[in-house]
Amino acid sequence: MNLVIFGPPGAGKGTQAKKLVEERGYVQLSTGDMLRAARSSGTALGKKVAGIMDRGDLVSDEIVIELIESELETHKNAKGFIFDGFPRTPAQAEALDGMLRAHGMQVNLVIRLAVEDGDELIRRVHQRAKDEGRADDNEETLRNRLANYRAQTEALLPYYESQGKVREVNGLESIEAVASDIAAILDAEKESEAQSAG
Ligand code: AMP
Repeated sequence: MNLVIFGPPGAGKGTQAKKLVEERGYVQLSTGDMLRAARSSGTALGKKVAGIMDRGDLVSDEIVIELIESELETHKNAKGFIFDGFPRTPAQAEALDGMLRAHGMQVNLVIRLAVEDGDELIRRVHQRAKDEGRADDNEETLRNRLANYRAQTEALLPYYESQGKVREVNGLESIEAVASDIAAILDAEKESEAQSAG
């Protein structure tokens, strides 16, 4: 089962993706984590994306698509993937479909962590800045990241909705409550897959 975990910065995508890795053995593919790793190891790619990330802009589709492509090759026998922070643009969503198709897979579900309240997102990201010290977790950059999310990434929802793949979870609940809502969605999906398989 391949999932896209979808939502604005601060919605809890990474936290929930990590829980699914622990609980279900899926492989988390976070383009944000990959780009931060490239930065901290000082690679040419890391240097290229540093300024873009610090402003809260999106790095090019080509770069993130290539990162995902190489991870899909690396984890050929994965039970499932959780795409966290990818796709963020229509071109990325189309590329993801193509890459998965080439491996005989598809996006099965899109879990939307709904948090409409911008102040709550800012509060959470402030907390993460204290806990993890991420350079882009400051108010100005966050506002730009939110604006990019609303302008470019939210537009992907109708694409997945038209395929009947989107399930919404209230991202304002506690971490445990969100995790249990997601677990119920995945269990229901597995059951319906098993029934349609016969
Ligand atoms: P994240 O950890 O997902 O919030 O990503 C941190 C930053 O990495 C973003 O603000 C972007 O600059 C960059 N980034 C991560 N994933 C993507 C993506 N799929 N497309 C473009 N830029 C990305």
